Amino acid sequence: MKYISTRGEAPAVSFTEALLGGIAPDGGLYLPETWPKLAAADIAAAAGRPYAALVREVLAPFVGGTLPGTVIARAAARLEETFHHAATAPLVQLEPNLWVLELFHGPTSAFKDLAMQLMAGLADAALAGTGERLLLLTATSGDTGAAAVRAFAGADNIDLVVLHPLDRVSPVQRRQMTTVGADNVLNLAVRGDFDDCQTLVKGLLAEPSLREGRRVSSVNSINWARLAGQIPYYLAAASALGAPARSVRFVVPTGNFGDAFAGWAARAMGVPLDLIAAVNRNDALARAINAGRYERTNARATASVSMDVQAPSNFERLVFEAGGRDAGLTRRLFERFARDGAVDLPTGLLEVLRAQLAVTSIDEQATRVEIATAWRRYGRTVCPHTAVALGAARRLDPREGPVVVLATAHPAKFPDVIADVLGFAPAEPPAFASLSGGPERLVPIPAEYRAALTEIGRLLSGDR
Ligand SMILES: *Cc1c(COP(=O)(O)O)cnc(C)c1O
Repeated sequence: MKYISTRGEAPAVSFTEALLGGIAPDGGLYLPETWPKLAAADIAAAAGRPYAALVREVLAPFVGGTLPGTVIARAAARLEETFHHAATAPLVQLEPNLWVLELFHGPTSAFKDLAMQLMAGLADAALAGTGERLLLLTATSGDTGAAAVRAFAGADNIDLVVLHPLDRVSPVQRRQMTTVGADNVLNLAVRGDFDDCQTLVKGLLAEPSLREGRRVSSVNSINWARLAGQIPYYLAAASALGAPARSVRFVVPTGNFGDAFAGWAARAMGVPLDLIAAVNRNDALARAINAGRYERTNARATASVSMDVQAPSNFERLVFEAGGRDAGLTRRLFERFARDGAVDLPTGLLEVLRAQLAVTSIDEQATRVEIATAWRRYGRTVCPHTAVALGAARRLDPREGPVVVLATAHPAKFPDVIADVLGFAPAEPPAFASLSGGPERLVPIPAEYRAALTEIGRLLSGDR
């Protein structure tokens, strides 16, 4: 299996190259040359199988012989070892045709653990054969950095640098990043905001001195391996509700459109499903699909902070597919978007996009109403991201068949908004227990390129 770029001007690469490289050299995103198909019998049989078995089955054609089956098996087994639920991603029924898929039982209590744990295992093994080292850089507002640290801590061939805005991540998120005590992890606490962190990472990814003798990449959701790692739970949930004999609607709380695109990929592999992306008031994706104009505006703060995105990076993958894999069209649209901050989507493309995806925007008030409703009706505390998706699910007709809402974070990660709505903070999950106590390792720095580069130099030379 080879991977091609959505912009059509980069050579096709293997799975491991896409895994270790991240973005394609022409600025595009990698996608498999063809979509592997799941047999109807395998979709039917997926229900109730061990999650690690589904991961092996789904990933095998994507990895395509570039890594031994034992490596995939070991990476999949990590999920069962690090997750605090026997089913890994349990499906819970709320109403006759409404379920939540709990994706938050991992070490950092957010769904990003599912793919990050896999990616870490695969990337470390891919490097082991080459003698190369990889430096991963990421800016985080909380969840991505935490999941990355928990996944890559102790990797043999990988160093990880996470930049977070000092005092602007929650105490739990900070401790998830800073208490692992691994020598291959550096936490830089930047005196600035998330955008400052992102600007620093952008510069560092292009820094020639860091590339001497090593690969440099990022762990954000443009990485194909992360998306591939999110396909298995769509298969598991759809099968449990009757696929392939019946179709299932998935409502996905969406920021960078990585999770939702994994659902699109599951459908391309043969799982019958409909996709509804739920966004908060940062609604660039909703406006693109519903009004036909994709336009970037400044992201506004919401309770569902991990979805405060106004230029969802994986939208490019959807456009490439909906446009019949027209790389020239994709390149023109996204280069114009990068240049002008806005682009009109051609009518033909728009029709296909609308057939493949519905998008609903849920405002802050409706998000709070859903948090209250989930407690009153189901006795559940839900995180604000899950509440956005529940709000979008509420607009669907339950008589038309099963609806699955993806629950992307444990509510205890966002205690303030829950306490504000319900008057009490949610109970903490078992994953929090391993956090208390241990010493924190982080290096505060000014939002300056030199300062970041100096600290990374110390990490790489072992001078800490
Ligand atoms: C990252 C995140 C999302 C958004 O996922 P995307 O793949 O970026 O669309 C939703 N909820 C939570 C809790 C997250 O951490």
